[in-house]
Amino acid sequence: MDNILEVTGLVKRYPSFSLDNISFSLPEGCVTGFIGANGAGKTTTIRSILGLARKNAGVVKVFGLDADAHEQEIKDRIGIVMDSSYFYNDLSMKDMKSIIAPAYSKWSDADYRLYMEKFELDPKQKISTLSRGMRMKFALVLALSHQAELLIMDEPTSGLDPLVRSQFLEIVMDYMKNGGKGVFFSTHITSDLDKIADYLFFLFDGQIILQGQKDEMKEGHAVVKGDASALPPDYENYFVGISKSAYGFEGLTDKKAALKKLLPVNTVYEVPTIEDIMLYYIRRHK
Ligand code: ATP
Repeated sequence: MDNILEVTGLVKRYPSFSLDNISFSLPEGCVTGFIGANGAGKTTTIRSILGLARKNAGVVKVFGLDADAHEQEIKDRIGIVMDSSYFYNDLSMKDMKSIIAPAYSKWSDADYRLYMEKFELDPKQKISTLSRGMRMKFALVLALSHQAELLIMDEPTSGLDPLVRSQFLEIVMDYMKNGGKGVFFSTHITSDLDKIADYLFFLFDGQIILQGQKDEMKEGHAVVKGDASALPPDYENYFVGISKSAYGFEGLTDKKAALKKLLPVNTVYEVPTIEDIMLYYIRRHK
């Protein structure tokens, strides 16, 4: 499997925040979720990858091409969904589309119409009158209408109602079916990742603290619940995080097999959600 996106040693410094030497790659054919607390640096990473923020160091390769040297070609081949403030408020969606479409060599009006209908958007409606969710839907329509090989999206489902969010997830799954594609998106809605992500990155304070295949990550961890008095003295070494109460303990472990040998048989081991994993790791790093 080829890498559709490769980031090596990315550094971006702001006066009170730094992205600290981030490296990762996205294999072709994967939906990759990018998660982290508010201010962790997700938008900064995406903006640096897209050349919207000038990086201080690092190399970004998209489709094997250096992003600085091949900016135009790469932009033609990717679909971007960011905070949609770059739309002109005085225009209708139809007029905005007419400005954007010629910038793409593979623009498809048929796809545009299909997605506008799917998302129930009226092309004649003025952009200034769109709700936040409608603006996001319009941004998605534009990103999906030029045969993009990679979708890069910053919180694309924020502001969407549950029905449209589920439609969006279906569209992403459909998009991936054609093969040779990739999706990279940041989100706070971890249930979306449970549904569609293959690969996950956790960002904390400008650093990637955990990354891997979603299923392996979930199988490699367990939420453990049991009697606190049965915990061995060095129990903290076995947990990413743990809390104890009068009723027992609950913790996240990445050493399930070792714990099973130490703890009583009535101890409960549950498959964690992405949210469980994220919360325990964030608490540990804090
Ligand atoms: P959220 O989930 O809240 O959207 P995020 O993970 O996307 O957060 P970023 O928007 O990347 O986080 O911000 C990371 C840090 O970089 C924050 O402390 C923010 O204040 C800072 N930052 C972002 N853009 C700038 C800028 N243009 N100038 C100075 N600081 C900035």
